[in-house]
Amino acid sequence: MSKTFYIETFGCQMNVHDSEKVRGLLEARGYSQVSSPSEAGMVLYNTCSIRDKAEQKVFSRLGGIKRQASGKTIGVLGCVAQHNGEDIFQQAPHVDFVCGSASYNALPEILDRVEAGEARVTGLSLETNETFDAPRIERDRPYSAYITIIEGCDKSCTYCVVPFTRGPERSRDSEALMREARELAARGYTEITLLGQTVNSYRDPASAGWSFARLLDEIGRLPRIRRVRFTTSHPSDFTRDIVDAIDRNESLCDWVHLPVQSGSTSVLKGMRRTYGRDEYLRCVEMIKSAERKIELSTDIIVGFPGETEADFEQTLSLLDSVQYASVFSFKYSPRRGTPAAEMQQVPEVEKGRRLRELQQRQRRIQLRRNAELIGRSEEALVERRNLKFRQWVGRTTQNRVLNFSDPSALATGRDLRGTYCQVQVTASGPNSLVGELVSAEAEPAFQGLHVLN
Ligand code: SF4
Repeated sequence: MSKTFYIETFGCQMNVHDSEKVRGLLEARGYSQVSSPSEAGMVLYNTCSIRDKAEQKVFSRLGGIKRQASGKTIGVLGCVAQHNGEDIFQQAPHVDFVCGSASYNALPEILDRVEAGEARVTGLSLETNETFDAPRIERDRPYSAYITIIEGCDKSCTYCVVPFTRGPERSRDSEALMREARELAARGYTEITLLGQTVNSYRDPASAGWSFARLLDEIGRLPRIRRVRFTTSHPSDFTRDIVDAIDRNESLCDWVHLPVQSGSTSVLKGMRRTYGRDEYLRCVEMIKSAERKIELSTDIIVGFPGETEADFEQTLSLLDSVQYASVFSFKYSPRRGTPAAEMQQVPEVEKGRRLRELQQRQRRIQLRRNAELIGRSEEALVERRNLKFRQWVGRTTQNRVLNFSDPSALATGRDLRGTYCQVQVTASGPNSLVGELVSAEAEPAFQGLHVLN
């Protein structure tokens, strides 16, 4: 069997980063990555089970690979692996192994067994926290890096599978974290995103006993680190000292993702979110009292069991009050084994109507707010090139996507990825800004971008 692998990742940034660790591990074992399942000796799906749709997608992929699977090794990783466990072998008998997100460090042993011809191998323990210290990580980009600082979750939202799939909350030692951050800075990375399901619940297990705010201070002060982001924050653990850390460190980005899920206190109670509408709005006010203008984004679920029209109206009015820069909105999707799946469900058609209405309301807010930025100069960290529109695609510190043209770079073949650029905003849409390059900083210090995409 050829030592090639293909990996497809579903879901959140935590999964994206887990795939970077898996890639590092496989490459250290002599595997090389290919860009399609048909070329690969091993096909891996790193899965998400936060919504039913995401899970169905995985099984549809597994169905598709079945016909061409002869001789290939098929593995299912991540949340669906953890949540469905050995049942996956019933639904997709051609799968060779399943490995949950907390067991990636068991992967070498799992692979040894699979390579030796063993069938139906599992790694499903939630006991380990070794996933923090991956021996090798093959990162997607050489200028922007993820660091997982906390795994699992001790909250118990009634709709969520994360406590089952990623286990209880466990924070990573601050010394190990800082070591990784310093190494990244030395290798030319300028942007670090700290990750966790509830990233701001971080509590340092080392004797230093750092709070999350202290960790932000320390990472924010590292030489050469220009941008620090963190996601996802839980409103109940968002304390004043985090805002103070943002005030002290310009490298902490002017953006906070603060999932609210609903604007109705009674729905929040049903969700067991540990805060009500008023507490959430107080938290928003505190973040907005920062010295710099901090933009907020959020997640919203519509049609949670028991959500009435009046509850939904409360969510719409919350959009008006907060004026989010962006919103990720979804119809409630029952997840097996969660308390909310047993509650009285809102009809699907009603959920669909509410979702459309919410998205239209938010679209108008984003159109208006983005238009206010026309004429301003924004700094963008360039992430990729859009060949079709002959534009560079970057992100502002407030996490807005900024597409811009630079005729001279296109003519000279200069690659701006990983570079900080000043861009004049000339137009806007609901989801992004458009602009023209004013100036680009000198060549970035990292190595390793080869292909323009
Ligand atoms: S805070 Fe709630 S929604 Fe977020 S991961 Fe924990 S249980 Fe899930």
